[in-house]
Amino acid sequence: MTNWIELESQVYMQVTKRTPLVLVKGQGTRVWDDQGRVYLDMVGGWATNALGHCHPVMIEAITRQAQTLIHTSNQFYTIPQLELAKFLVDHSALDRVFFANSGTEANEGAVKLARRWGRQERDGAFGIIATHHGFHGRSLTAATLTGKPQYKDQFAPLTPGIDHVPFNDLEAAKRATTSHTVAIMLEPIQGEAGVHVADDDYLRGLRQWCDEQGLLLILDEVQTGAGRTGTLWAYEHAGIEPDIMTVAKGIGGGIPIGGLLAKGKVAAAFQRGDHGTTFGGNPLATATALAVMRYLVEHDIPGNAARVGAYLMQRLESLKGRWPVTEVRGRGLLIAVDFDRDLSAELQAKLVEEGMLVNTPTPSAIRLMPPLILTQDEADEAVDLLERALEKLGVGATT
Ligand SMILES: *Cc1c(COP(=O)(O)O)cnc(C)c1O
Repeated sequence: MTNWIELESQVYMQVTKRTPLVLVKGQGTRVWDDQGRVYLDMVGGWATNALGHCHPVMIEAITRQAQTLIHTSNQFYTIPQLELAKFLVDHSALDRVFFANSGTEANEGAVKLARRWGRQERDGAFGIIATHHGFHGRSLTAATLTGKPQYKDQFAPLTPGIDHVPFNDLEAAKRATTSHTVAIMLEPIQGEAGVHVADDDYLRGLRQWCDEQGLLLILDEVQTGAGRTGTLWAYEHAGIEPDIMTVAKGIGGGIPIGGLLAKGKVAAAFQRGDHGTTFGGNPLATATALAVMRYLVEHDIPGNAARVGAYLMQRLESLKGRWPVTEVRGRGLLIAVDFDRDLSAELQAKLVEEGMLVNTPTPSAIRLMPPLILTQDEADEAVDLLERALEKLGVGATT
């Protein structure tokens, strides 16, 4: 029998720290490894499997579209692309859409659109203000936007014109603004950094500042979008609207797709030929994402994320005192549990033994971003498994 982990070490570029599991099958909130062991999946494909694994609605859409038309290129009009674009426009504060294949690509497009707009509307302004610890992807520009030195310093020189300010600090964003600035870009919740929620007041303050200064507010909703935080888009919590929003992950439920959405006046800066893609928005991806998004909205999946997420957070909060939990952060089904010591790697390994998959964004925190169809019983199961793993780790409560 092939040792897949051994094979990976021989033929795959060694850039990702993987959990030593070979996953072969998924159903709903469960995945199976090649040994036949089953796990409660609280990683959800990095906040991507919104409807869980192999949802019938996705299987149906993929199968039907695969038998009809898989790919054509954007030289032609295709119907699923336009239906999905219309759906997103109808269900967001934005007016126009451009589809890409990933969150990174969507963010590249956002920067290009902002710069194109700045050239036309703001005297050539090009500067983007991003946040410390933010995450926007791995292309050179997306990595430059990312506020983690370890993701980019090895690849200098980076994209010029990008500055970073502390997250949740309105005054810092104001101080960093110059006549060259064209946009402020951030995540409504910094996911990769360990689930740090932007205060609603901070987002409202940024919106107001951008309005006063004639800047664009770009929200990266790649992780927070598609119902993850309990509303369809996370900006709804703050009662604001971005000028540009990027999406990916959950909107496709697991099929690779990204999207750049913008207000009409901003999108108008792009001229024909300014941007493009071969795969982006192809019929297979958009038909699948359309089925996912329709199901999300029609079955109030964001409402489920809100209810089960609130319940899960409350149960996790109650672990304080009994276990060395220092903080529970998040919104909806994007949650981090932080501990008073660097136990996340060991805890993750122990949880694998107990039958649950989690992510470890920092040495002291685990991140939960399960399918949005998670039930309250499964939330209870997750907390029980977490307690069992903590017990086996033999860590006591903080005193
Ligand atoms: C995952 C993520 C990205 C990058 O998306 P890819 O599809 O991996 O390119 C960008 N921004 C945020 C907020 C993300 O969580």
